[in-house]
Amino acid sequence: MHSHHSHSGDYVAHGVDPLDDMILQVEKMKFHTYCLTEHIPRIESKYLYPEEIESFENDTDALKQLEMNFTKFLTHAQRIKDSHKNKYPNIIIGTEIEACNTTHIQYAKQKILEYQDQVKFCVGSVHHINGIPIDFDQDNWYKALLSFPNKNLKKMLISYFESQYEMLQILQPKVVGHFDLFKLFWPDSLRVNIDTGECTESSSENDIIVTPMAYLNIWDDIKQLVIRNLKYINSYGGAIEINTSALRKGLKEPYPSSNIGELVKQYCQGRFVLSDDAHGIAQVGVRYLDALQYITQTLQLDTMYYLIENNENGTVHFEKIPITEFANNEFWTLLRANK
Ligand SMILES: [Zn+2]
Ligand SMILES: [Zn+2]
Repeated sequence: MHSHHSHSGDYVAHGVDPLDDMILQVEKMKFHTYCLTEHIPRIESKYLYPEEIESFENDTDALKQLEMNFTKFLTHAQRIKDSHKNKYPNIIIGTEIEACNTTHIQYAKQKILEYQDQVKFCVGSVHHINGIPIDFDQDNWYKALLSFPNKNLKKMLISYFESQYEMLQILQPKVVGHFDLFKLFWPDSLRVNIDTGECTESSSENDIIVTPMAYLNIWDDIKQLVIRNLKYINSYGGAIEINTSALRKGLKEPYPSSNIGELVKQYCQGRFVLSDDAHGIAQVGVRYLDALQYITQTLQLDTMYYLIENNENGTVHFEKIPITEFANNEFWTLLRANK
């Protein structure tokens, strides 16, 4: 089995366990491939999270710490990779891009180039809308919505997919992270005027509850942006991750939801990889049995993909695995036994 996206308590403030302990768990669970993808450091203090600032006297020191953590992470990850030369899992070192804004995306591009000997691929994600983190907490999600005049949900979603497109064009990430992250704190009863896209308290016939499963059917122009992004990912051979962190955070489906998943099948050759986005031991392979069901029953994929690194030249490429082979892997037997 594989995960193409992970963090640890050593290098990210909200991480739980040390990286070495997580790797022990990865070995125990018999992963075939595990990718270590700590974030590219953020470079502007306005994007620091509260827990990153608290132990520092000023923001400059907190930013310096992020830089130092990243180089420390690379050394550590390389050590783990070297120790797995002749045993599973295959360790691939990558990095996740948070894509706060254009400056950060450009900085990430530079950083990846600088560390190209170690960093073999990137997970391209978007975590901010109008500079506000949308996966931090409910308050920030609302703040992002409020940053659009008259709480315009439609404009907020358009902004997200435009940022994603910008990130895709600059970085061409091999793996696209949590494609519809905005659904995490999407309120259950968000009433929206479908003509204007504005959130409203009224209940006239044009005001309906819009959910993360409905917006693509309601607003075709947003659906077209999603299709554009997927076609672009397909053009350079990128893949979409099925990220189970959505399940551990209480959502019904992983990222992306099946409405996007169907479009990936249509416009990106169904090129999916699997990720746990773990931040601690308990999150390694978290909810993978549910992901298996999502893959085989909900999306009914006939192929899964995973990254493989060429030991000769250090490049990475996707390898295909037929779904029967994927679903019959001994990994699942072990997982069911330990449930
Ligand atoms: Zn992320
Ligand atoms: Zn992540």
